[in-house]
Amino acid sequence: MNVDIAIVGAGPSGLCLAKSLSGQNLKIALIEQQDEGAISKPLFDGREIALTQQSAKTMKTLGLWDLIEPHAISPLRDAKILDGRSQFEMLIPHQLSHYQELGWLISNHLIRQAAYDAVQKVLTPNGDITLICGHKVVKVKTDETNAKLTLDDGLEINAKLVVAADNRFSTTRRMMGIAADMHDFGRNMLVCCMTHDVSHDHIAWEWFDYGQTLALLPMNPDLISNHYRSSVVITVPSDEAEELMKLSPEAFSKNAKERFGSRLGEMNLISSIHSYPLVSVYPKRLVSTRFATVGDAAVGMHPVTAHGFNFGLLGVKKLSEEIVTAHKAARDIGDQALLLRYQRSHRLKTKPLFLMTRLITDIYTKESPPAKLLRKALLHISERVTPFKRSIATSLTGR
Ligand SMILES: Cc1cc2nc3c(=O)[nH]c(=O)nc-3n(C[C@H](O)[C@H](O)[C@H](O)COP(=O)(O)OP(=O)(O)OC[C@H]3O[C@@H](n4cnc5c(N)ncnc54)[C@H](O)[C@@H]3O)c2cc1C
Repeated sequence: MNVDIAIVGAGPSGLCLAKSLSGQNLKIALIEQQDEGAISKPLFDGREIALTQQSAKTMKTLGLWDLIEPHAISPLRDAKILDGRSQFEMLIPHQLSHYQELGWLISNHLIRQAAYDAVQKVLTPNGDITLICGHKVVKVKTDETNAKLTLDDGLEINAKLVVAADNRFSTTRRMMGIAADMHDFGRNMLVCCMTHDVSHDHIAWEWFDYGQTLALLPMNPDLISNHYRSSVVITVPSDEAEELMKLSPEAFSKNAKERFGSRLGEMNLISSIHSYPLVSVYPKRLVSTRFATVGDAAVGMHPVTAHGFNFGLLGVKKLSEEIVTAHKAARDIGDQALLLRYQRSHRLKTKPLFLMTRLITDIYTKESPPAKLLRKALLHISERVTPFKRSIATSLTGR
C-alpha cells in the first residue's frame, strides 16, 4: 500500500491528526492494534480530562465538540491547591484569566468516541483515510526517500512520513532508535466517579496531602439523582492502590470520605475504579528521518498538571499546519527542516511545564519536617503573588 502519511495509533491524538489532515488531497493510513469494535465504542476508563480553552477551540475546529452531549461537558470555573491537613487553600480564580471558566472537563472515552465519529463522518465523502484496525506495526524503516511500515499480517505500507501516536511507551519510537527519559513515580493514580453531599462549586481541587495526593474534578450533576458529582483521583503508593481496588463500593466510599476529611460530606462511588501507574516520559528527540511523534508518544506527562491531551492537541495542530503548508506548496511533507521546526516548537511549548511538574511532585511528596515547612511556606507565598497565580491561570486556559 502507498500513502502520503501513515499514522500509528488511533487513540485521541492519532484520530485528531487524521481528521485535521483529511480533505487536503493527502492519502492517509491510520493503523490501530485494537479491533474496530473497541475504538468505535470506547469504554469508560475513569479519566476525566481537563481541557484548556485552547483545546476546546481546537476540538471545535476539528468537529469533535458538537459531537459531545452538552451535559457531558462540565465547566472548570476555578482551581484550588491544598497542602497537608491545613484548612489553608490557594485559590486560582477564573477572573485571573480572560474567560468565565478556566477550562472544561470531558470523560476520556467520550473524547475518543467523538474523535472516532469525526473521522467516520469524513471517511466516505473525502475518501482519503484508510483505517486499518486489529493490526500492530511490527517494523518501521525510513530513509531519505521513503518510510516503510510492516504490520503483523505482513502488509507493507510505504509513506512519505510516519507519525507515531502509539502512547507514551511508543514501540514505533523505540524501533526508530529514539531514547527517552522515563521517571517511575512508584505510585498509582486511582480514578473514578463519585457523588457527594457538599457542592464543589465547579472548583477543581489539587490536594497535596501527607501520604497521598487527592484531586477533585467537578462535573455536572448526576442525571439520575441530581447529586453533586465529581471525578475523584487518589494517588498513593502502588501497593496501597492495589488494596483500595479490592474494597467493596461501600467500603471504598467510606474510605474516600475519610481521605477527604469529610469536607465533601457523604461520598458515593457511582462508577468502576481505574488504576494508572505514574510514569512520565520525555523522548530525547520528537522526530527522525521521515518520522515524527505526537500525543503521549511525544510527551508523556504526569497527569497532576492535567496537560497530556492538551499537549497532544497542540502537537497535532502544529504538525498538521506544517504538513498542509508544505503539501500546498508542492514541497516534500517528510522534509527534515519541516520536522525540526515542529520539534522545536513542540519542545518549547511542553518542556517547561514537563520539568515544572516534576519539580512540584518532588517537593509536594516529601514529608520530612523541613520539607513540610517549605511546602506550607511556598503555598502561602504563592497565594500572595498574583502574577504567579495569573501564570497558573493562563497555563490552565492554554493561552
Ligand atoms: C489518570 C489520568 C488522568 C489524565 N488527565 C488528563 C487531563 O486532565 N488533561 C489532559 O490533557 N490529559 C490528561 N491525561 C492524559 C491523556 O489521557 C493522554 O494524554 C491521552 O489520552 C493520550 O492520547 P494518545 O492518543 O496520545 O495515546 P493513547 O490514548 O495511549 O492511544 C494510543 C493508541 O495507539 C495504539 N497502539 C499502540 N501501539 C500500537 C502499535 N504498535 N500498532 C498500532 N497501534 C498501536 C493503542 O492501542 C492506542 O489506541 C490523563 C491521563 C491519565 C492516565
